[in-house]
Amino acid sequence: MADCPLPLLPMSAPELALEYPHSEHPAVTTTVELAPGVRWLTMPMGGSLTHINLYLLEDHQGWWVVDTGLSDTATKDYWHDLWAKELGGKPVVGVICTHMHPDHIGQSKMITDEFKCPLYMTRAEYYQARSFSGSGPSHHSSWQGRIFYEQAGMPGDYLEQLQKMWSQRSSSGMSMPEMPTGYNRLVHGQELSIGHHKWQIVEGSGHSPEHACLYCPELKIFISGDQILPIITSNVSVHPTEPEANPLKDWMDSHDRLLSLPDDLFVLPAHNLPFKGIRTRLRELIDHHEDRMLALEEHCVEPSVAKDLLPVLFNRELDPRQMMMALGEAIAHAHLLVHRNRLSRTLGEDGCYYYRSIDPTLERRAHPDSHNKPNDQPIMV
Ligand SMILES: [Zn+2]
Repeated sequence: MADCPLPLLPMSAPELALEYPHSEHPAVTTTVELAPGVRWLTMPMGGSLTHINLYLLEDHQGWWVVDTGLSDTATKDYWHDLWAKELGGKPVVGVICTHMHPDHIGQSKMITDEFKCPLYMTRAEYYQARSFSGSGPSHHSSWQGRIFYEQAGMPGDYLEQLQKMWSQRSSSGMSMPEMPTGYNRLVHGQELSIGHHKWQIVEGSGHSPEHACLYCPELKIFISGDQILPIITSNVSVHPTEPEANPLKDWMDSHDRLLSLPDDLFVLPAHNLPFKGIRTRLRELIDHHEDRMLALEEHCVEPSVAKDLLPVLFNRELDPRQMMMALGEAIAHAHLLVHRNRLSRTLGEDGCYYYRSIDPTLERRAHPDSHNKPNDQPIMV
C-alpha cells in the first residue's frame, strides 16, 4: 500500500460522540440526498442484515454508483425502477465497488452492461471476485480445506456440512455473481473527479484485501463500505485459501491509519445508518478486538484449539456458514496474538493446532470479570 495521504491530526483534537442524523433508511427504490450530489439508497438483503446501503454520486453527464446490491432478480428490478424514477434521465457513467463481497458486486455486471460504463475496483478485489465467481476449484472440497478445518479441531463431517450449505447457497443472491470482463483500477491516494468534487481513494484491509473507501474533504463525507460500520463489526477471517494469513493485523493497522481522518466527517457505511463520530467508532472497534484478544489469551492458559475459542467470542447458535465465519474470526484473533508473541501455536499429535498463552505479563494485564460479553450480532458482512 502506498504512503497514506491523510494528514496527521494533533492528538488533543476533540472526539465526537456517535450521532445518526437520519433515523431510518430510505424506502426501497427511493433516494435521500445527504449532501449536494450525494444520494443514499438501500437494497434489501435476506437474513439479519436486512439491507445494504448504496450511494449515488452526481457527475456532469450522469451518475456514479457506489456498490450495487445482491445478484438476485429483486435487486435487479429495483435498480430498473430507480433508473426510471430517480436519476432525472441521466445515465450511470461509472460503477465503484468498495470490495468483492456478493452484496457489493452483485449487480456490477448488470449495471455496466446496461450503460456500457466502466467498473472501478482495486486490483486485489477485482481479481479475487473474478476467481471466486468462476467455477474454479473450491477449498470446500479440497484437501487444503479438509486440513484447515481439521487443524482447527472441527468434526470430521464439518466439510460435508459446509459443502451442502454451499450448494444451496449457489442458487441464492448471496452466491458470487459473474463479473464484468474488465475494470479500471483504483489505488490508494488516487483522486476521482466527480461533478464539482474530488473524491480520494482510501484503502483499508482485513475484512477484504484492498477495500476502497471514498473520501471527499470538501463535502466532509467518507463512504466507508464495510471498513467502518457504526453498530455491527465486520467479519475479519482467516480462510483455507490463505491459512497462514494475519488479516486482523491488517485490520488494526488500517484502523490506526484511519484515525488520522478529521473527526467531523459524515460517514456513509454499507450497513446500519450514516453517522458522525468516526474516531470514536474507530477507537471502539480497536478496543473491541483488543478486548477479544485478551479474553482469548486468558482462555488459552489451558492449551486450546480454534473451535474451543468460539464460545469466548460468540454466544449464539451458529449454522455451518456462520460457524465458518466465526471460526475464521477466532483464528484471525489467534494469529495476531501469535504474531505479538502472546500465544504459541503447536501442532498436536491429533493433527490440531493448540494455542497456549506465553506472555509473562498476562497475569498483570488479565481482567476476566470485566470483558465485553461474547458477540451476539450477525456474522455476515
Ligand atoms: Zn464485506
